Amino acid sequence: MDKEKLKEACGVFGIYDFDGNNVCNSIYYGLLALQHRGQESCGIAVCNTNIDDKSIVCYKDMGLVNQVFTKEKIIELEGNLGIGHVRYSTTGGSIKENAQPLVLNYINGRLAVAHNGNLINTKELKEKLQKNGAIFHTTIDSEIIAYYIAKERVRTDSIEEAIIKTMKIIKGAYSLVISVPKKLIGVRDPHGFKPLCLGKKNNAYILASETCALDTIGATFIRDIEPGEIITITENNISSIKKENLSTNHYGRCIFEYIYFAREDSYIDGISVYNARFKAGEFLAIDSKVEADLVVGVPSSGNIAARGYAKKSNIPFSDAFVKNNYIGRTFIKPDKKERIIGVKLKLNVLKEVVKDKRIILIDDSIVRGTTSKEIITLLKEAGAKEVHIRISSPPFLWPCYFGIDVPEREELIAYKHDKKEICKMLGADSLDYLKTERLKELVNNLGICKGCFTGKYPIKVNK
Ligand code: SF4
Repeated sequence: MDKEKLKEACGVFGIYDFDGNNVCNSIYYGLLALQHRGQESCGIAVCNTNIDDKSIVCYKDMGLVNQVFTKEKIIELEGNLGIGHVRYSTTGGSIKENAQPLVLNYINGRLAVAHNGNLINTKELKEKLQKNGAIFHTTIDSEIIAYYIAKERVRTDSIEEAIIKTMKIIKGAYSLVISVPKKLIGVRDPHGFKPLCLGKKNNAYILASETCALDTIGATFIRDIEPGEIITITENNISSIKKENLSTNHYGRCIFEYIYFAREDSYIDGISVYNARFKAGEFLAIDSKVEADLVVGVPSSGNIAARGYAKKSNIPFSDAFVKNNYIGRTFIKPDKKERIIGVKLKLNVLKEVVKDKRIILIDDSIVRGTTSKEIITLLKEAGAKEVHIRISSPPFLWPCYFGIDVPEREELIAYKHDKKEICKMLGADSLDYLKTERLKELVNNLGICKGCFTGKYPIKVNK
């Protein structure tokens, strides 16, 4: 719900309308639906496949989608093939130059790329390219991907071959949407860290980070892009390449997409995000029972797991907070002494609900612990007799190398303190987490990454 929470890195969207209709409006709505995946910058790049001019028109800036794209701007961006991006910075700074999509002019034409994820061999690849004279305009790893694709395209017969070659060089997490004149391409890394799905609306095909973006524009979900797959959409054909040697049994779908990042109305790899969160609450009720009068969730991400806990435990669920949805990211933050006002500006307690009650408070994670402490204080000030906190993920102990902004280990409360200490620090009456063994059960045993909880990642990383 705030600065305490981990940040997703990006969301991507692409659409090709074979009837020649302008797609900018659809990209705009798609990006609005993906806004939760990145709020620092956004951009749209479009081209018109029906004219010989192969130029790609791109506009990007810092800010939220509805701030950056005015009606006038959308009218200017004409074309029937386009991609879009929302970003939160994990690698590279939060500056306009790092906004995406990236548009590259190279000898074979133009290429626009939007990337969700993080590479783990950026440093060595960049050094290698720079030693050979490459000049970079941004500080993001996505430019390295775009650069390699362009570089390989000069030596290969097709853009797909260039992408296959690039996939052998780059390591890490990447879901990409790429546009070249007359082609929309989707790529998912061999581990499948980040989601990517395919949809259709009338005579247009769409690629998006999450199915909620398809729903928003009225498109029908077709399928998920598989880990290691390259999908090419042209006017005549949809083709897919999934090279055996690109694939791996070590799938690494980010489990935190299901627990917190993705929108609850999305489906990822056939699993409902809502159901995964509900199940997490049920597992907590089975594994971490406690006698209480009421189950409440920290809005809004803790509410689904709270409902799951309530159902399984037969303890009633209730809303206990009022959330102020009008506090943007830019409000003047109160100083340290006034921190409780900072929380109250966003969240207030319904006193009549919690007074004299033993409360089970469900949240999706504890990172530094600051916000949890403030929320427990609010509940106790409002008259709650006991507050038992249950977390629908295991303790955060390790960093993420794949595009999630996890603080340094030193700042993670669970790295420095055991459960008993944290409980005392937060002012709670008891504390428990989801068991790590339960994570796979949330997603019907799909191959997942749970590295930030276990320190074991699907790819070898330099810790
Ligand atoms: S380390 Fe954690 S946050 Fe990062 S990809 Fe793996 S599960 Fe997701």
